[in-house]
Amino acid sequence: MTENRRQFRAIKGTRDILPPESALWNWFEQTARNTFESYNFREIRLPIFEETELFARSIGADTDVVNKEMYTFSTGPDADTKEEGASAQTYSLRPEATASVVRAYIENGMQTLPGNAKLYYVGPMFRRERPQKGRYRQFYQIGAEVLGQSDAPAIDAEVIEMLMTFFKRASLTRTTLYINSIGDKNCRPQYVELLREELRKVAEQPPAGSKLGPDSLRRIDTNPLRVLDSKLPEEQAIIAKLPRISDHLCDACREHFAKLKEELSLRGIAYEENWRLVRGLDYYTRTTFEVIAEGLGSQNAVCGGGRYDGLVELLGGPPTKGIGFAIGTDRAILSIQESGKLPQLPALAVFVAWMGQAAYPTAVNITRKLRGVGLAVELPAEEMKFKKSLGLADKLGARYALIIGEDEVNSGTFTLKHLADSDQKKLSEFDLLEYLESERRDTRA
Ligand code: ATP
Ligand code: MG
Repeated sequence: MTENRRQFRAIKGTRDILPPESALWNWFEQTARNTFESYNFREIRLPIFEETELFARSIGADTDVVNKEMYTFSTGPDADTKEEGASAQTYSLRPEATASVVRAYIENGMQTLPGNAKLYYVGPMFRRERPQKGRYRQFYQIGAEVLGQSDAPAIDAEVIEMLMTFFKRASLTRTTLYINSIGDKNCRPQYVELLREELRKVAEQPPAGSKLGPDSLRRIDTNPLRVLDSKLPEEQAIIAKLPRISDHLCDACREHFAKLKEELSLRGIAYEENWRLVRGLDYYTRTTFEVIAEGLGSQNAVCGGGRYDGLVELLGGPPTKGIGFAIGTDRAILSIQESGKLPQLPALAVFVAWMGQAAYPTAVNITRKLRGVGLAVELPAEEMKFKKSLGLADKLGARYALIIGEDEVNSGTFTLKHLADSDQKKLSEFDLLEYLESERRDTRA
């Protein structure tokens, strides 16, 4: 017999979210659901993997995400696919969810539904990046999308308002919202060409003390907008002198952006314009935005979003406008934790300290009743000595110990001990239930 005592570990870039932190995650996601639903968004649940081609076509073949970050696998033809000529398929774990939302929108004919499709999603994404603080290979996003016939700036503004309202409710307040317009198919190509020409010039004759790195040099041909995204110190002086898209927007895009800013002001939303905000995915048009938060070091973007008016058509659907965002949950939570502004989360309310077999049936019964009114209750499965029992109640962070011993059974009462100050009351079952329930209502309010 071979002995194999190898310990398994979570794969690099993945991690376990353990209690009590998981409660913070649930609260954060629930706050998003509540906020989004108050804006009449509804949840869409999507597959975790899709055809690789869906991502390549929507995100763009020359993006880091598609080029080197996707987890891709192929399978032979499905055993149950009897189709003639069924061939091998290539699938990828989703690196983001907008492509899937758009695929689902088209596949389910959602353009025939009344009004705009206002959808949100919550779940894990996968990118093979170098793991570090705030950057994981399995990470989590909460996103929202609006798809429909209108590209009114009020839609962009409402989406951004919803996002910032959510952050406020989730006590993520030390944030900055950046906005930009990156034009559309009428004006962006000319701007990109202009940028390319300027970049070629500086590539040939770099100004003293500056030069473009290999990534930017490559992007001159493939994706010059991405150069604006660069954080390399030796490129900053060059970038500062490049032509700005705001000077090259067509009239329609310029007006759309001006209206968006008016709409944001109307809604009392503070923002900063950032002409270098271009976003990493190819499908964006016009409005782009990003939110950064404190306490995160260089991985400080907690949300990215923008308009993607051509995407539905690109994926074979009818002409449709779209806008959305994706929040990085991992980073948002890190920022909340660093700020120390943690919400009051549900904790263990009652530890049932029962002693003596005679007390056991009463303990089981009252536990069921307390749980029935929504309290978190721990009932030890085996009898414990009084001191040990109260010690465990304390370590588990219980608010109360409910003591049930011989005295209590004989007198038909319960002893409720508030563990923080050792204050003790003797109560009938009726009074006990009423007391704990009303207290729970008060702490919720
Ligand atoms: P970054 O520039 O930080 O790599 P991104 O532009 O790749 O971000 P998006 O694709 O716009 O990010 O995704 C939206 C949000 O998802 C980001 O703002 C970030 O909060 C989060 N995010 C993206 N990649 C990761 C990752 N590998 N780990 C954790 N969060 C991530
Ligand atoms: Mg990235």
